[in-house]
Amino acid sequence: MDKNTRICIIGGGPAGLSAGMYLEQKGYDNYTILERNDHVGGKCHSPYYNGRRYEMGAIMGVPSYYAVHDVEEFCGITHDGPQLNRNYKDRNGNVIEPFEPKKNLLKIPRLLKMKKQITELGRILETKYKGYDVNGHRGVAQGRYEGFAVSPEREPVSGENENLRDLSMPFKDWCIMNDVELTQDVWIGPFTSFGYGYFDEIPAAYVLKYLDFQTCMNFVRINLWTWKNGTQYICKCLNEKLNNPARLNSVISKVERKDGKVFVTVNGEVEEYDKLIVTSPLQFFPEYADAREDEEKYFSKIDYERYDVLAVETKPEDHPEISYYVFDNMTPDRLGHLMVYYRRWKDTKDQVITTYALRKHKNSEEIPYEECKQMVLDDLAVMHNPATNVVNEQSWYYFPHVFSDDYAAGWYDDVEAMQGKYDTYYAGEVMSFGDMDETAEYSRELVERFF
Ligand SMILES: Cc1cc2nc3c(=O)[nH]c(=O)nc-3n(C[C@H](O)[C@H](O)[C@H](O)COP(=O)(O)OP(=O)(O)OC[C@H]3O[C@@H](n4cnc5c(N)ncnc54)[C@H](O)[C@@H]3O)c2cc1C
Repeated sequence: MDKNTRICIIGGGPAGLSAGMYLEQKGYDNYTILERNDHVGGKCHSPYYNGRRYEMGAIMGVPSYYAVHDVEEFCGITHDGPQLNRNYKDRNGNVIEPFEPKKNLLKIPRLLKMKKQITELGRILETKYKGYDVNGHRGVAQGRYEGFAVSPEREPVSGENENLRDLSMPFKDWCIMNDVELTQDVWIGPFTSFGYGYFDEIPAAYVLKYLDFQTCMNFVRINLWTWKNGTQYICKCLNEKLNNPARLNSVISKVERKDGKVFVTVNGEVEEYDKLIVTSPLQFFPEYADAREDEEKYFSKIDYERYDVLAVETKPEDHPEISYYVFDNMTPDRLGHLMVYYRRWKDTKDQVITTYALRKHKNSEEIPYEECKQMVLDDLAVMHNPATNVVNEQSWYYFPHVFSDDYAAGWYDDVEAMQGKYDTYYAGEVMSFGDMDETAEYSRELVERFF
């Protein structure tokens, strides 16, 4: 492609900003990032409280966040945040140690079995499911893998593997089929409580591509990255380093693609481009773009989670001494309840804690926002950490994904085949997975493949 190609990127979150970075590194300088908010970062959102940043959105990374590491290098920053740590409580607020055999004598057989199954899971992922962990979902539904290895070098990898088709089934069913159902006890922590839905509804491909074996073990061992100034700071630094920083407050009312050109109406003015990269949610693209029949058809199949975050103050004597996971509340029958709460800074109680709850599940009615908020506040009281005040709240449109039937029917291969068809490329969360690294990595690959 001509290096002077005029490229419009919609969205200034990790996907859009990293697309700009990778384009620039490949010699494309004629790109424009349009961000509708007055700040960059999207779901990397780190407001101030008492002079320090807390996280309303993304919190952490792991050492295999290679694309995030590219960004850190590009910006000259590093993961310098507070070390994470956590304990566990049951739904009644009692501190428990669910994985400690000595504290769970009756559960020893189950814990031993779980340990065995985790080893077995590691084995089948390397053998039976070889190729499961490449970024994105190309070929999976057809029993293929195609992409780049999860390594700093990202060597191209591809191959046939019929077993990969299994990954379209819900993770719970997939675990049962492979006799590793107890591994869910471990995988559920960094999956469901992180807002990614329930194992009876989410295809195994999403669970395992994000929580590949190594990544899950990094969560277990708390080998994690955080950023002192918050994840939004990474995006801010990246934006400032780019030759063409995002244009903020850009309200797009129309996208028209005709005669090999892309016309974007921004704040009432029509701008002309050659190519478009959409990193904003594809589900809403048809609301402002001249979506074609296939775009309408596929994007209407996208589902999402409702992930609610509250930042609350407590009395000093009620402040949690550490972050807590509440495993009891991570199953669909406890929809809307508090699943995890996060204390970020160890050295002071003069800070907010953030709470996390899901209120949407495929087979249940969505819980109204205010109702869920009250449930979470009630749960905090049950946990012996009652809140005095809510200082910030956010209900996120979260983790866009497709369900098993559409996954198995080849949603990803069909959408991948549409890349470039209308001078338009699709990136962002749904194309890979809803975390900072998978989205940035997908942008890297998109630039590698098409530009
Ligand atoms: C509570 C929470 C916790 C999380 N924890 C983690 C974590 O610990 N680790 C991790 O890796 N990830 C985490 N994530 C997920 C991570 O933040 C997202 O996956 C990532 O930000 C996705 O990047 P993106 O650019 O694809 O989308 P987004 O971050 O959603 O960015 C999209 C951008 O597009 C803009 N936009 C949307 N529509 C338009 C439009 N029409 N015109 C112009 N601009 C538009 C938005 O304003 C936004 O800035 C968390 C997210 C949340 C909410």
